[in-house]
Amino acid sequence: MSTATPGTQAADDLSRNFAFTTRLDAIVAWGRRNSLWPLPYGTACCGIELMSVMGPKYDLARFGAEVVRFSPRQSDLLVVAGTITEKMAPVLVRIYEQMLEPRFVISMGACASSGGFYRAYHVLQGCDMVIPVDVYVPGCPPTPEAVLDGIMVLQKMIKDHAPRPWRDNWKNPYDQAR
Ligand code: SF4
Repeated sequence: MSTATPGTQAADDLSRNFAFTTRLDAIVAWGRRNSLWPLPYGTACCGIELMSVMGPKYDLARFGAEVVRFSPRQSDLLVVAGTITEKMAPVLVRIYEQMLEPRFVISMGACASSGGFYRAYHVLQGCDMVIPVDVYVPGCPPTPEAVLDGIMVLQKMIKDHAPRPWRDNWKNPYDQAR
C-alpha cells in the first residue's frame, strides 16, 4: 500500500512507475483475445491433432485458450476439427447458436474447410456453408504450429476490431426449414 500523499511529487513518481492509460475498447479486446474458451468440435483425425495442441508440448495455455469447454454456453471459440456430414450440420449450427457472444470460429483442416477428400453426397463441402468461419487452418491434418498460428491470427483480428461481414450477415440456413 502506498503512503504517498496525492498531489505530491512522490505520488507523481509512484504513478509513473505503474499507471498506464488506454481505451476501454482496447482493454476489453485485450482481455477477450487472451481468454478465449474453445469448444473442440472434433469429429475425426483433426480432433486428435487438436488434443496435441492443448498438451504440454505446444501448450495452448500460453495464449490463454486452454480452458476447453464442452458446453457451448461456456465457450466463445468453436474449433471445427474434422469431417462434417450433412446429417451433422444442423447440430453444428445449433451448437454455434448456443455459444456466447462475441463468438468466433476456427475451421481446422481440409475436411472442415472444404470437405477434404470426401467429395461425397453426404459430406458438407466446408463448414462455412452453415456457420461463419473466421480463420481457416490448412492441412491434413494441420500441424500444431499451424493451429497456434490460427489462434494468433484470430487474436490479432480481435485486437484490431477487424470487420467480420461473414458473421454480421450470417443467417441460420435451417431457419426456413423449421
Ligand atoms: S483434414 Fe485430414 S486429418 Fe483432418 S479430419 Fe480430414 S482426413 Fe482427418
